[in-house]
Amino acid sequence: MKDSYDVIVIGGGASGMMAAGIAGQQGKRVLVLEKNKEMGAKLKITGGGRCNVTHAEFDVRKLLPFYKENEKFLYSAFSQFGVQDTFDFFEKLGLPLVIQALNRAFPKTEKALDVFKALEKFMKDTGVTVITKAPVTQIHREGEEEITSVTAGGKVYFADSFILATGGVSHPETGSTGDGFKWLKDLGHTIADPTPSIVPIAASNPWIHALSGKSFDHVKITFFLTRNNVTTKSFFKVGRVLATHFGLSGPLILNSAQKIGDLLHEGEVTATINLFPGQDLGAVEKLILQTFDAHKNKSFKNVFSELVPNGMASGILPLVEECIPFLELDTKVHSVTKDSRKKLVKLLTELPVEVTGLMGLDRAVVADGGIPLDEIDTKTMRSKKINNLFVTGDLLHVNRPTGGQSLQLCWTTGFVAGKHA
Ligand SMILES: Cc1cc2nc3c(=O)[nH]c(=O)nc-3n(C[C@H](O)[C@H](O)[C@H](O)COP(=O)(O)OP(=O)(O)OC[C@H]3O[C@@H](n4cnc5c(N)ncnc54)[C@H](O)[C@@H]3O)c2cc1C
Repeated sequence: MKDSYDVIVIGGGASGMMAAGIAGQQGKRVLVLEKNKEMGAKLKITGGGRCNVTHAEFDVRKLLPFYKENEKFLYSAFSQFGVQDTFDFFEKLGLPLVIQALNRAFPKTEKALDVFKALEKFMKDTGVTVITKAPVTQIHREGEEEITSVTAGGKVYFADSFILATGGVSHPETGSTGDGFKWLKDLGHTIADPTPSIVPIAASNPWIHALSGKSFDHVKITFFLTRNNVTTKSFFKVGRVLATHFGLSGPLILNSAQKIGDLLHEGEVTATINLFPGQDLGAVEKLILQTFDAHKNKSFKNVFSELVPNGMASGILPLVEECIPFLELDTKVHSVTKDSRKKLVKLLTELPVEVTGLMGLDRAVVADGGIPLDEIDTKTMRSKKINNLFVTGDLLHVNRPTGGQSLQLCWTTGFVAGKHA
């Protein structure tokens, strides 16, 4: 007998689970085909295991500018399912959300697994059939504009409508290996190639912007994560760091971008730059004393350039004024107090960096590549080329920051596709 459904959802990630449950709620016979042995592998690691479910900006006119040039395409979809709907949806499933720093909303339980379980229950309650370990390998078409069936695990499954929710290419170990991009291309869509998640970081510190174009050849940069007002050290790297007019770059930064992007999903990220890697604080103080001794009668501001990398003094001096206010820059170095010296050691080993995001495809590691929204009818998430195909989540080429906006896009597009498929 023909294995036939009203709707087949390909991929059981965040947007696919939402789409499937919503289609089921409309009374449709729904099948989810998921290639992993369980759905939601990426969802379970979101927000460092806490899941930043959405960005708590309830005014759609203030929320949509986060999606940059796609703002104009998203009004209709977000008016069908916006941030308040996300709060209500999870509350109804017994998983209330709470708002934390920077408008990031998390489940009250702070467990991404609970978000997954809530969605799984939603799908069960709405009668969705799920087949796991069923990678879709082929999409079959009748004529140019209609899909008839898909092959998964050697079997052919038929449906009236298909929702493609196979995700992007970040963290491929979770199952998102870009299969959807290939099919969409074959089906006649344009696909913006995914860019590697190797991007510079944006930082808000004026001292960094002032040093734009200059590089620290050998420094240690340590990244910290703050969540729920608790700051923990995350990781450090030693090497060359380039200051830019927007933040920091250079190989060390570029190669750390994915890790920093992951941290940004979890909370606030800061860093410190140590100009004297490998030296303990005593050795740094000794070096300062020796430098002061060699220039006894000179003013601090004239000797300062001896303590920092070439060309950096004017950029860093304002930080000295800010962090050691009682140290007059005109003071002769022999008069610099011990307390000021200690503070100087601290400053030069912990130059502050406030990380505000990732640059590149606007600050989001996971937002790159995909189908442009002008090839989708965003009122329904239907492909403009294939009549019975709907596309959701990370398959869409939507530039966005990290702070809950990615998953909100999944809930919104999943809801809209599920409703109209
Ligand atoms: C480390 C990390 C942390 C993140 N944290 C957050 C956060 O806190 N907040 C936030 O808003 N965003 C976060 N994101 C982004 C967010 O997770 C994604 O935007 C979201 O999961 C995308 O959902 P999706 O449904 O489009 O695809 P995915 O979640 O990638 O799901 C795609 C599914 O399709 C399946 N699949 C793929 N190919 C096939 C095939 N051929 N046949 C069958 N099934 C297939 C996959 O196995 C997978 O289950 C994070 C991303 C990462 C990598």
